[in-house]
Amino acid sequence: MSISLQKSIGFKLLRYVFGFYFIIAVLVTSVQLVLEYINVKESMFRELSSLSETLEDSLAKAIWSFDNEQIEANLLGISKIEIVAGAKVTNLKYKVYAAKGKIITESSNIVSSNDEILVGKGSIKEYQYIDKKTTGTLFEYKFPIVNNYSNDITPKIIGHGYIYTDHSSIIDRIEHGFILIIINSLIKTVALWFIFLYFTKRIIAKPIALLTSAVEELNTKDIQSLKNNNDLDKILLINTNNELNILINSFVKMRNAVIERTSTITEINKELKYLSLHDSLTGLPNRNLFYDRLNTTLRAAERDNLKFAIVSIDFRKFKEINDTYGHLAGDTVLRTISKRIYDTLYSIDTIARMGGDEFALILKGVDKSSIKIVGEKILSSVYEPILFESQSIYAGVNMGVSFFPENGRDPELLYKHADFAMYQAKREDSGLFIYNSDVAYVMERRDVIVRDLEKAIEKGQLQLFYQAQINGSSNTIHGVEALIRWLHPTLGYIPPDEFIVLAERSNMIRMLTDWVVNRALKDGVFLRSNNYDLNMSINLSGRLINDSKFISELSNTLNHYDFPSDKVTLEITETSAMKNPDKAIQVISKLKELGVKISIDDFGTGYSSFSYLVRLPIDELKIDKSFLLEFNQNSKTVIASIIGLAHQLGLDVVAEGVETEEMVNLVNDYDCDIVQGYHFCRPLPLKELIIWLETHNKKYAAI
Ligand code: C2E
Ligand code: CA
Ligand code: CA
Repeated sequence: MSISLQKSIGFKLLRYVFGFYFIIAVLVTSVQLVLEYINVKESMFRELSSLSETLEDSLAKAIWSFDNEQIEANLLGISKIEIVAGAKVTNLKYKVYAAKGKIITESSNIVSSNDEILVGKGSIKEYQYIDKKTTGTLFEYKFPIVNNYSNDITPKIIGHGYIYTDHSSIIDRIEHGFILIIINSLIKTVALWFIFLYFTKRIIAKPIALLTSAVEELNTKDIQSLKNNNDLDKILLINTNNELNILINSFVKMRNAVIERTSTITEINKELKYLSLHDSLTGLPNRNLFYDRLNTTLRAAERDNLKFAIVSIDFRKFKEINDTYGHLAGDTVLRTISKRIYDTLYSIDTIARMGGDEFALILKGVDKSSIKIVGEKILSSVYEPILFESQSIYAGVNMGVSFFPENGRDPELLYKHADFAMYQAKREDSGLFIYNSDVAYVMERRDVIVRDLEKAIEKGQLQLFYQAQINGSSNTIHGVEALIRWLHPTLGYIPPDEFIVLAERSNMIRMLTDWVVNRALKDGVFLRSNNYDLNMSINLSGRLINDSKFISELSNTLNHYDFPSDKVTLEITETSAMKNPDKAIQVISKLKELGVKISIDDFGTGYSSFSYLVRLPIDELKIDKSFLLEFNQNSKTVIASIIGLAHQLGLDVVAEGVETEEMVNLVNDYDCDIVQGYHFCRPLPLKELIIWLETHNKKYAAI
């Protein structure tokens, strides 16, 4: 910041000082001029006096010898002298002998006159007179003429001499001196001006300007250049200990404190920035930094027509690793695997931890032709066992890939598509899946389902259908299986196979099951009141096995409805029961305490261990419908052995998926207890079920 000369302190000070100085200078000069005037006047008077002395003798002689010519000649001579305006000589009675030039006579028009002043032997008198309307001033030097040239005669005054000088000749003489005085004053003033400017600039203005720019630098410059700037120290060296120096000293101290504190804050900020952009466990970029880099990569790719791939990575069975080996092992797995993936990448690529066991990659220059190679490199690095506390842990990942620009031109979409592809890879457990639009359709449908599921209950979009189960030997009705249905307002009918998994994943399965149990028991009560004393089979998600609260609430629900607990069968799939058999035994025992029966659903697909099967306190096995639907020699054998095994263990057997007369006959041949399938009855809404039940009963009553 620079300040104009007019606004600078030095200039302002100068104005005051100079104003003051000017007044004083004028006063001093005036006094000098007056003194000069007096001085000149007096010296002229002295000159007149000495003139008179040189003239006196000659005049005395001339008067004594009545030599008028001599007097005239004397007067003529004297009047030629520069300062002499005129001269005259009179006798003692003031009668004029002779006169020359400007003189005062009795006829002169005198305005005023001053008292006589004695100078030498004579005296000076000043006259103001008017001559042809102009005023003039004449100084008259009057001196006595004494005849002291001869020794024999006693000296005595014999006449008077007058020499006149004009005021203007004093002024003429003074003029020169005056000019000198004024020039002298001017030179002093200008010199003072410059000296003053120089010193105010050096002592005040420059330090202040430096101080100002130093203050400005505090706001604008970085710490390093602040540290290196020692301009102020230079002033400190030059200036003595004045107020300004004290101010600068205080400022320097303040600046040092600011530098120190700012450095600390900068350090902290750096740290905070690092933390805000990195994951603390792996030290890798986090979600924020990932998107930041993705944005940059995207812009560069748009500009230079480049390609890149986004990979979404999910760990295989990470939850199980955590549950089995502990969280420390889980952390080690995440760190090790992410490091291995990092090592397979180029330095221009990015690996980021998006949260939990989700990672993401930005692979520059990778397209459809090269992704397989990169993918395989990553997968083979991952499958190497990880050593943790002398145990080998085998981890794996599933990756979904999307490409720029084919699969999206904005970061969110690209990542979302990679994520969709990852879910597909996970579902197939194929390691690597490349995004396509079918995946998008499935994923978007899923999003809608998850989003709308909660409201589906409130809005009455859920329904329970019932499928009859028939006693194989007698064709009488054993009971019904409750099967859920969802009629979505835009997607239409959504099969339970699709939304049950999503409900399990989003923890909505509890709510859903509560609704199913209540509705089934309520409808069960209604059927009983219509004289249908039927068994009610309800499907139970494997997820609820781990939910201890569920059992106590189920107990309350069972108590709430006037429906016998021993007419309730809970179906648990074989796979969910066998995931954690010990836990299953424990939970099933508790459920049994409620008085309900337990059925193992989809039996034959879950590789049950016989030893566990024996220990499970169950009542029924349901042969998976795939064995009946495929129906070949192999499946016949499986069906026969399951029925044999179940009977050996004292369990009832249900064959579901019975679609034809042939199948009915077959399972009946093996002594299957209960049959269920489209051959008899499709799952029906309650009202239609009642109609079906009526017709069925009539038919068999007739037989
Ligand atoms: P699931 O428990 O094995 O149910 C039997 C499935 O087989 C039902 O499909 C039923 O409609 C179908 N089915 C019955 N007879 C035949 C037949 O003769 N041929 C063929 N091809 N299929 C037949 P749905 O209703 O679509 O249910 C599918 C699965 O959804 C169920 O399999 C069950 O695992 C689940 N689910 C249905 N309702 C519920 C529920 O309320 N809670 C729970 N947790 N799961 C349910
Ligand atoms: Ca079932
Ligand atoms: Ca089944």
